[in-house]
Amino acid sequence: EKLLEVNNLKKHFKLNRQDILKAVDGVTFDIYKGETFGLVGESGCGKSTVGRTILRLYEATDGEVKFRGEDVHAIKSKKRLKKFNQSMQMIFQDPYASLNPRMTVKDIIAEGMDIHQLTKNNKERIKRVNALLETVGLNSEHGNRYPHEFSGGQRQRIGIARALAVNPDFIVADEPISALDVSIQAQVVNLLKRLQKEHGLTYLFIAHDLSMVKHISDRVGVMYLGKMAEIAPSDTLYKEPLHPYTKALLSAIPLPDPKVERTRERIILEGDLPSPVNPPSGCRFRTRCPLAMDICRKVEPQFKEYKKDHWVACHLYDGKNNKLS
Ligand code: SF4
Ligand code: MG
Repeated sequence: EKLLEVNNLKKHFKLNRQDILKAVDGVTFDIYKGETFGLVGESGCGKSTVGRTILRLYEATDGEVKFRGEDVHAIKSKKRLKKFNQSMQMIFQDPYASLNPRMTVKDIIAEGMDIHQLTKNNKERIKRVNALLETVGLNSEHGNRYPHEFSGGQRQRIGIARALAVNPDFIVADEPISALDVSIQAQVVNLLKRLQKEHGLTYLFIAHDLSMVKHISDRVGVMYLGKMAEIAPSDTLYKEPLHPYTKALLSAIPLPDPKVERTRERIILEGDLPSPVNPPSGCRFRTRCPLAMDICRKVEPQFKEYKKDHWVACHLYDGKNNKLS
C-alpha cells in the first residue's frame, strides 16, 4: 500500500538573475506504508530538499507529492493543512539547533500537542509528556531541564519525542544520526525501529552514506545531483548494485569479510560533485563515471525498472536487459 507518491518532483531555487539552483530536478519514487525508505547521496545532491518539499516546508517547483492519494501541494484549506502537518513530522540532523534553548524539554515536546489540541487539560498534558519521555528512554525529571543540559544522543531522543507527540504517520528523519558518536548511532537507530513497530510509522530516512541506512531501510534510493540514480530493496542494493555511482559509494564502505573485500569490484570516485546550477549534459554522473560512454554526454538516461523493484538510470542498462559492457 502506497502511503506517499512522489512524481517527477522538482525544486529549483533562483539564486540571482541568471542562476537557478536545480536542487531537485525530477525525482520519482513511492514509499509504502510501514516501511523505511533510505535516501542516500553526497551533501548537495538534493536529498534534504526532497524531504523538505515532501513536508511542504518548501513549495514544489514542479511535479507532485501525494500523501494517501491527496496532492500535498494542492491543499488549500487551513484545516486540511493542519491535519496534514500533524500526520507528517521531521527529525533533524542537529537536534540542538532545532530545539529552542529557552524552552524546557517538556514544553518543547508539548508544543505540537498544544497546537493540535491533543490534550484536554494540564494534567493530561503532563502525563502524555512523561509517557513520551519514557518511550524515548528519558524520564519525567528530564522534562524540567533545558536542551543544553543534554548530550547529543539525548537531544536526538528529545527531537524524536517531539515528533512523536502529535501521533504522526510519516516521519522524515534528515540525517538523524550523522552528528552522533558511532556508539550512540546504533541506539538511536534501534529506538527509531522500535517506535516504528509500536506506532506503525513510515520513515523517509536520509543519510549521506550507505552504511548508515543499511540496517534500518527496507528500500534505498540513491540520489546524485538532483536526480535519482537507483532504487532497490536494501539487500539487493548492497549485493547487486547496478549504477556505477552506487558501486562507488559501496566501495567506500569497508567490508568485514577480507575474502569478499579482496574480490569485489572497486570504483573510486574522482573529482568533486559538479554544481547543480550547471549540471553536466546527458548523464549527470558522466564527469566522474569510470564507465562513461559517448552516449552519456549526449543523452540523459531514463530512470527505468531494470528488474522487478530495481530501478536505475544508466545507459549500461538501457534496452532489452542487455548490459552493454
Ligand atoms: Fe556512467 Fe553513462 Fe551510466 Fe552515466 S549513463 S552512470 S556516465 S555509464
Ligand atoms: Mg542535508
